[in-house]
Amino acid sequence: MEITPNQIDQIVANVMAQLGGSAAPAASYDSTQYSGRKYIGIYATMTEAIDAVADAYKVLRSMTVDQREKIIEKIREFTRAEAEIMAKMGVEETGMGKVEHKTLKHHLVADKTPGTEDIQTEAMSGDGGLTLLEMAPFGIIGAISPSTNPSETVLCNSMGMIAGANAVVFNPHPSAICTSNYAVDLVNRASLAAGGPANLCCSVVKPTMQSADDMVKDPRVKMLVCTGGPGVVRAMLSSGKKAIGAGAGNPPVIVDDTADIRKAAKDIIDGCTFDNNLPCIAEKEVFAFSNIADELMYYMQQNGAYFISGEMADRLAKIVLVEKKNEKTGKISYSVSRDWVGRDAKKFLAALDIEVGDDVRCVICETDENHLFVQTELMMPILPIVRVNNIDEAVRMAVRAEHGNRHTAHMHSKNIDNLTKFARAVETTIFVKNAPSYAGIGFGSEGHTTFTIAGPTGEGLTSARSFTRKRRCVMSDSFNIV
Ligand code: NAD
Repeated sequence: MEITPNQIDQIVANVMAQLGGSAAPAASYDSTQYSGRKYIGIYATMTEAIDAVADAYKVLRSMTVDQREKIIEKIREFTRAEAEIMAKMGVEETGMGKVEHKTLKHHLVADKTPGTEDIQTEAMSGDGGLTLLEMAPFGIIGAISPSTNPSETVLCNSMGMIAGANAVVFNPHPSAICTSNYAVDLVNRASLAAGGPANLCCSVVKPTMQSADDMVKDPRVKMLVCTGGPGVVRAMLSSGKKAIGAGAGNPPVIVDDTADIRKAAKDIIDGCTFDNNLPCIAEKEVFAFSNIADELMYYMQQNGAYFISGEMADRLAKIVLVEKKNEKTGKISYSVSRDWVGRDAKKFLAALDIEVGDDVRCVICETDENHLFVQTELMMPILPIVRVNNIDEAVRMAVRAEHGNRHTAHMHSKNIDNLTKFARAVETTIFVKNAPSYAGIGFGSEGHTTFTIAGPTGEGLTSARSFTRKRRCVMSDSFNIV
């Protein structure tokens, strides 16, 4: 059996990890190469990257669907084999998240991202002949990817885009550029291994706002796909080009008094702590019926949550949130401190002079509805719990905390009327009932996965078909054979 360079890298990484060292410590990560292997598809400027993608796109257009599927199969295979490398790199480069969870996320991408089977032709036949509606590529897609799921987003987007016969250029998040470019290279290695061209997926050495702007303005880029916070999604949607926007969330959870409270507590902590709360779908605040709130918090503590007082929660808010004053209006606003996003629970407690072990995976507290922890998308394993008197109060507060993102919401209940009431009111793209949040992206549940959930532009959980345009081909008075 032949051992590939990637497998050798992985074996070295595993041995080094067992020895307590690291094959590639954070300082040695590079956005152009990994362990001496030069990445394919990484260019100094965005224009050069688009030149390279344009050549690859021409080759891709001459390939069959079957050949595209073979490329996607190779991406799946390499993603499974190199999941741990990318997970480790992502945590070391960004300082956020958990290696074991990022590894699972890569396996989810490999296993549950749809391929070419997602591209379907519609046909209409009748007295007037035969009309076909085919899903055609946009061409070259310009994509923005986040720091929170860097390689996962590059891989998942690339698979869907290539399945739809597109090529893609990324302007990845600067603070996750090495991990993102590792994934760009993986896509190109997979393409070459499957007989496809290099540079189907490209990126830049050092992404900046200028390189993002160059990508947006280049006439060869026909579609933009943006996964990130509200600022960048707004910028992409106002570009004048066809754009898919996958923006911020702040998913609320309602727990009513018909729920299996013990299970709800475990599900909520499992979801909230997955990758240290980085996923945009993860539980961010809980509205619990008063008569079950104590029991819920008790079982949360049985599942790795550490309860802090209201006074401590206020102290913690001052540490993890940054206050900003608008000079003109004098209005104060708060944003998350990048130094605290996706960190381990014990670090937050250490900042409050509380020493705990690794078994503590979440900080919980009881707050009122207006607390900053409820209203801000923290992306940290900190979970505020608000007591409510009834379903109407819960729904009103949860809808307010979701801020109209229409992203994701969760509920634990056995009351169909309550479940329906919340789902209708919150209007989110994903609504998960009686399960951890990650069930919403196909983890331990039915349905495909994606790391680009397009609420604002309506594609929902994106897949290959989201990256296509419909074209109609009409044959008048013929080819209908019935
Ligand atoms: P971010 O918004 O900080 O950055 C995303 C990317 O946009 C980066 O590459 C950044 O450099 C760039 N950018 C920012 N402003 C820009 C502008 N005006 N023009 C061009 N580029 C610009 O994202 P992040 O912090 O890495 O990710 C977290 C956010 O993304 C959260 O709000 C999370 O909810 C959201 N998110 C959403 C989804 C989804 O599927 N809906 C998935 C992952 C993350």
